[in-house]
Amino acid sequence: MEPSSVANAYAALVGSVDAEIVRDERMARRTTYRIGGPTALFVRANTYPALTRVIEVLDQQGVPWVVLGKGSNILVSDKGYIGCVLTLGREFSRVILGENGAVTVGAAAPLTKLVTDALGHGLSGIEYCVGVPGTVGGAIAMNAGSRREWIGKTVESVVTYRPGEGMHRYAGSDIEWGYRATSIPWSEIILEAKLRLKPSTKETVSRDMNERLSKRRASQPIGQPSCGSVFSNPPDLSVGKLLEDAGMKGYTVGGAKVSPVHANFIVNTGGASAEDVCVIMREMQRKVKELYGIQLKPEVKFLGF
Ligand SMILES: Cc1cc2nc3c(=O)[nH]c(=O)nc-3n(C[C@H](O)[C@H](O)[C@H](O)COP(=O)(O)OP(=O)(O)OC[C@H]3O[C@@H](n4cnc5c(N)ncnc54)[C@H](O)[C@@H]3O)c2cc1C
Repeated sequence: MEPSSVANAYAALVGSVDAEIVRDERMARRTTYRIGGPTALFVRANTYPALTRVIEVLDQQGVPWVVLGKGSNILVSDKGYIGCVLTLGREFSRVILGENGAVTVGAAAPLTKLVTDALGHGLSGIEYCVGVPGTVGGAIAMNAGSRREWIGKTVESVVTYRPGEGMHRYAGSDIEWGYRATSIPWSEIILEAKLRLKPSTKETVSRDMNERLSKRRASQPIGQPSCGSVFSNPPDLSVGKLLEDAGMKGYTVGGAKVSPVHANFIVNTGGASAEDVCVIMREMQRKVKELYGIQLKPEVKFLGF
């Protein structure tokens, strides 16, 4: 990338598109880990024309970009990202409840809003997302949920933006959904999804959600900056249990610490660097490999490394 590219892109976009545009935005402000150096550009595109124009300008200027939601499953390097972090804003934040459990939801809608609206209308099918931070776009990209229940199971269709082509609609059944994985290419931006929830009662949905929330509160370090689960569970095993048995709880490097509550969570106790987290992750992998012969796979995504 040319040194002037970011400045040129900024000059071409600021004031001319419906977007929030910031230069040298510290990603620690935009991630639940509260970790990460500056991204050269941070853009929140509020409308579809703004989004396509932003991408056009970035591509013209040769500025690499990546789309993020709320940054709840990402570790950004201490050096930051030499490119543009793109997020979706206003026009992509709607949750529209239709007939018989149909829900049309924008990718920027907070997952908590979807969960609350489902509860308010006695709709079942998304209870396992209670307490999961992030956006609906991030949840679909990650196929968020638990080990066996995930958002993909409720998806009837997904609309994406294919850079250079335009919008593309997938039927939910044409997408392969796996444990924290989908077949939607990472090069596409998820814009909207149609979900099919099941009409139930408010009482039933509320009871289920409350039980799940209580379990979460008892077993996870809620309220401390983290990215949730660091590694994916190996088939039929609990990575938290493997790490706990390996003695990793409480293991600390700089400001990062393996949670004493859940060994698959690394928390930022204040001033943790991405490098602190990486050192702990390598140690977790080394220990589990040495003791059980299992190679742990990160669930968290990385940016700027
Ligand atoms: C306390 C805590 C608890 C958690 N519990 C769970 C849990 O129980 N289950 C679970 O599955 N996850 C859990 N997570 C992880 C995280 O919340 C989910 O993965 C969430 O769905 C990520 O959403 P996001 O908007 O923050 O995505 P981000 O972290 O911003 O991005 C994650 C990935 O999705 C991609 N992405 C984001 N938006 C889009 C888009 N519009 N189009 C295309 N790609 C996109 C990004 O490029 C990135 O690769 C937890 C995290 C925390 C901090």
